Amino acid sequence: MQTNLTEKYRQTVEGQTAESILRACVHCGFCTATCPTYQLLGDELDGPRGRIYLIKQILEGNTVSEKTQLHLDRCLTCRACETTCPSGVRYAALVDIGRRIIEREIPRKPLFSLKRKLLRTILPHPQRFALLLKLGQTIKPLLPHSLKRKIPLSQKKTQWPKTHLPRKMLILEGCAQSVVTANTNAAAARVLHKLGIQLLTAPNAGCCGAVSHHLAAEQEGLAFMRQNIDAWWPYIEKQGIEAIVITASGCGTMVKDYGELLKDDDHYAEKATDDKFAPRFVAFVYPNFQ
Ligand code: SF4
Ligand code: SF4
Repeated sequence: MQTNLTEKYRQTVEGQTAESILRACVHCGFCTATCPTYQLLGDELDGPRGRIYLIKQILEGNTVSEKTQLHLDRCLTCRACETTCPSGVRYAALVDIGRRIIEREIPRKPLFSLKRKLLRTILPHPQRFALLLKLGQTIKPLLPHSLKRKIPLSQKKTQWPKTHLPRKMLILEGCAQSVVTANTNAAAARVLHKLGIQLLTAPNAGCCGAVSHHLAAEQEGLAFMRQNIDAWWPYIEKQGIEAIVITASGCGTMVKDYGELLKDDDHYAEKATDDKFAPRFVAFVYPNFQ
């Protein structure tokens, strides 16, 4: 794709990065077929190709509007589009840049800012989120149907095998998932236990950083990432942990990017690119046993 960035962006690292990503896109639209928001809304601008086009417009000096912001906000950053792109376009890195710029250019309405702040204040903190979910479950019978169906039933955490095994992996328990589907990680621990692997948790690890990162609070997201590395590192150094296991796909894609996002951090860059930080889903651990 041809680009013609304004001088303002051509001089910056983010502008140059965005330009190289944009140039890789051949506008074929293969990615559109795998995009959930396009499938749901049927609008080209709510699909990857449309969003790429919007970001190109921003960088070329066209007017940025709340509508542009909305189309970028609607992206789930699930990265399904990257899996079907024949040109290897780094869509997630591009949308991060687009969101950053738009956040600077378009002030949000106070109610929206508050909503985003609340999401960042509650979701990444399991205790706060659990409390709120409990409240929602308690008053559920009084709520209108549209809200009722959004409140999940509570799950009890099932048995987590504690037997010591020579092979060990570490799981990121995560934030929202550990509250909403508390059984998932315990089930993964049982599956891996059957395969001869003990699944450990690091009590000081927390949210992967995706909630803040995708809500344009980059420094906050980086703080979560550093906190996780600090929590995991002693296990990697002293307990011979083979890998970090992830059961939530969104967290997996975030942890996979730690190396890139912390590459300029003198203290964390080396640790973040350690092989162990290449997260594995349970499904990818199993084939090694066949
Ligand atoms: S599939 Fe890749 S090259 Fe084709 S439009 Fe989407 S991002 Fe661009
Ligand atoms: S990241 Fe997901 S939601 Fe966003 S454009 Fe790609 S496929 Fe669509």
